[in-house]
Amino acid sequence: MTQQVVVIGAGVIGITTALELQRRGHSVLVLDRDGVAAQASAGNAGAFAFPEIEPLATPGIMRKAPKWLVDPLGPLSIPPAYALKIVPWLFRFWRASRPAKYQTLLGAQASMMTHSASALARLITDIDAEGMLQRDGQMQLYEGEAEYRASLPTWELRRQYGIEFDLLESREAIAEIQPGLSPRFTHAGFTPNWMNVVDPKKWVEHLAKVFEGRGGRIERREVRTLSPVEEGVQIVMATKEAAAQKVVVCAGAWSHHLTNTLGDHIPLETERGYNTTLPQGAFDLRLHLTFPNHGFVATRINGGVRIGGAVELGGLSLPPNYRRADALLMKAEKFLPGLKTGGGTQWMGFRPSLPDSLPVIGTAKQTPDVIYAFGHGHLGLTQSAGTAELVGAIIDGQSPQISLTSFSATRF
Ligand SMILES: Cc1cc2nc3c(=O)[nH]c(=O)nc-3n(C[C@H](O)[C@H](O)[C@H](O)COP(=O)(O)OP(=O)(O)OC[C@H]3O[C@@H](n4cnc5c(N)ncnc54)[C@H](O)[C@@H]3O)c2cc1C
Repeated sequence: MTQQVVVIGAGVIGITTALELQRRGHSVLVLDRDGVAAQASAGNAGAFAFPEIEPLATPGIMRKAPKWLVDPLGPLSIPPAYALKIVPWLFRFWRASRPAKYQTLLGAQASMMTHSASALARLITDIDAEGMLQRDGQMQLYEGEAEYRASLPTWELRRQYGIEFDLLESREAIAEIQPGLSPRFTHAGFTPNWMNVVDPKKWVEHLAKVFEGRGGRIERREVRTLSPVEEGVQIVMATKEAAAQKVVVCAGAWSHHLTNTLGDHIPLETERGYNTTLPQGAFDLRLHLTFPNHGFVATRINGGVRIGGAVELGGLSLPPNYRRADALLMKAEKFLPGLKTGGGTQWMGFRPSLPDSLPVIGTAKQTPDVIYAFGHGHLGLTQSAGTAELVGAIIDGQSPQISLTSFSATRF
């Protein structure tokens, strides 16, 4: 049965969901205060990172974190002005890292990845998007035997979940895939089935164009509150009010502002990330490179090179600290000798993150007519097609493609 659905948020989650709901025959309107791909979905690293099944809160992580925090420009930072505010989230993060909980989260994340990979394959066919992808794989690089050995349990996990990879144990083997790296990298793990979009902003814009071409509507409006009414949901916007049969909240790192209006207090925070995009010719990059012990990646975007990552637990209103992007670029210069670092564009984005690394996908407590789909952290692009299909199943009253117990809004 066709329903009137309003999707709030025109990032990769909102637009992919809108397209899927439209494919299922619903009449869909997308609302975003800033337009299509205005926030995190615009400047990310562009990876469909299906092999990244491990939640961030791994057992023992809280012992490692202080070491990272000592370096103010290291991979993890907490600005002093936000230190007290982030404590409750960090407490939940620690609880998620306890071994039994970690195993449950790992299983849920792995099932979401398998489902998302097949949903993406369906989406690529549906919108004819093969030309927007780079299927080159990814390499995780290690400096020396000890670092490599420490990574082996994670590779063993991937093996258990059926993820294809090769372990490379010499500089020569690395150079066959990516020449020109610093000799400090002696070992690597190569995942051939990893893929990237040519440009994450253009990806979302393409989806939006297809959605509009098929009759979907996108309007620039800020939503303030949601409330259940008979036969649907009342939506209060900055300048007007409207009603819909179903509302899907895909407002990224701002989603809790809307869920609060329905009485769902979800511990959403932002992990702010930084990058610099260098013009074409900056480096002959052959595939997505990950430097796991430094918390950043190098990836090809539109023929240029994007260097970025890091996590800053700094909330939504502090100004960006672009010295973090500078610090990553300085490291990349050492790792990719000859990298031309001039002419870059810096960016900061708000990853929407729950403390247990899983998104919220499910209905509001007060009403089944509001569906939540947010909080994908480091993996929003990766899990976008999977999320869209899950929301479609919820709205159509079908059983979801994977168990949604671990993704529920009431799990905290
Ligand atoms: C440096 C960095 C690198 C990353 N790399 C990757 C990667 O390689 N692969 C990957 O899978 N993920 C990656 N991510 C994560 C990914 O970018 C996010 O998970 C994803 O973009 C989140 O998408 P979203 O649609 O939920 O949020 P957003 O893209 O932030 O969109 C939310 C939208 O909601 C709108 N909005 C908010 N509140 C309201 C309101 N009240 N009314 C109307 N509109 C509203 C906003 O304007 C915004 O457009 C990276 C993130 C960063 C920061």
